[in-house]
Parts: sequence; C-alpha cells; structure tokens
Amino acid sequence: MNRERFLLVVSGPSGAGKDTVVKQLRQSHPEVEFSVSATTRAIRPGEQDGVDYHYMTREAFEQKIAAGEILEYTNYCGNYYGTPKAEVDGRISAGRTVVLVIEVEGAGNIKRIYPDATAVFICPPSLEELERRLRARGTETEESIQRRLARAKEELALAGSYDAQVVNDTVERCAEEIYGILKARQAE
Ligand code: 5GP
Repeated sequence: MNRERFLLVVSGPSGAGKDTVVKQLRQSHPEVEFSVSATTRAIRPGEQDGVDYHYMTREAFEQKIAAGEILEYTNYCGNYYGTPKAEVDGRISAGRTVVLVIEVEGAGNIKRIYPDATAVFICPPSLEELERRLRARGTETEESIQRRLARAKEELALAGSYDAQVVNDTVERCAEEIYGILKARQAE
C-alpha cells in the first residue's frame, strides 16, 4: 500500500468553496484529518486559532522556516501560509488520511515531496459565480477581492496539472466526488 496516496491535496481559487467542501468531506468521512496551516494573515470573524489556522507574526513564521518545521510555504497576497511538518509526516506514516487545503504553488511543492499524493483541483462553476461568492463572503476589501480574482485566473490555468478536477456545483456532490477519487487511488 502506498501511504502517500492517503495525503489529499485540495486547491482551487479563493471563493471556489474549498473550505466548505472539505468541511463536508470531513463530516461525512471523519477519518479524513485536517492539516492546520500556519499563516501570518489576520484572523477572520468566526475563525479559531489552532482550528482554522495557527495564526502568527512574520517573525514567528520565519523562525519556523529557519528551524525546518515548515514542509512547504508560500507568500499569498502579501501573507505567509505554510504547512507545519508536524501536521503531516507522523500521520501519513501511521496510515491516516490527511487533507491539505493549499494554493497551487504549495500543491506543486507537496507533489515534489510526496509524488503519489492525491491532488484535486476544485473549480467554481464560472468566474462570475466566483466573484459573486467572494463578495457575498463580506470579509474581503475591494482590493483583496481584485487580487484574489487575478490570482484565481492564474490558478485556474494550472488545474490541468492536478490528478483530478472537480466542479463545486453543489457541496455534497463535490465532496463525494473527491472522496471517490481518493478511495479509487488508495485502492490502486
Ligand atoms: P485564505 O486567506 O482564504 O484562508 O487562504 C488563502 C490561500 O492560501 C488559499 O488558497 C488557501 O488554500 C491557501 N493556503 C492555506 N494554507 C496554506 C498552506 O499551508 N500552504 C499553502 N501553500 N497555501 C495555503
């Protein structure tokens, strides 16, 4: 059995609904464990430190990089985001299933470290729908919305490099499609 296949990497543009889909996936399949990333971005209303992210200062993040505690990281729209090694390594070698919800550069780096990880790209039904969802969130400034939309176009161009692409038309259906992809790869 190839343990790397128990590592699920989910990407998709901001506003594609990755977090909601992954939440649904974990509700329906509680064996899927969430990797809590580190970030320097500000906490949003409704988020919890240690649950959604480990929130930290740039200095603390850079110290973790220097100490070799970060598996991969990127600078996304002005903030650091990274996967702590501790969230992944032990769990994968113990045969547990872990999901990383990360952007495209990080996903590419994870595939270089774990070539058999299962990488799935979530597409929004359309760019118009993506913009509508970003605005409906009500947590982003106009500048942040514009940066995220520009980045979304770049990210969508890379969807083809993932093991699979899924469209988030409805959350439950999309989550089940991802679970099916993961199970099929684990069974190979
Ligand atoms: P947000 O600010 O909307 O929570 O996240 C911004 C982007 O950073 C999203 O695409 C999210 O998936 C990505 N991201 C979150 N954590 C990580 C991480 O640990 N590594 C990388 N490379 N990207 C991350």
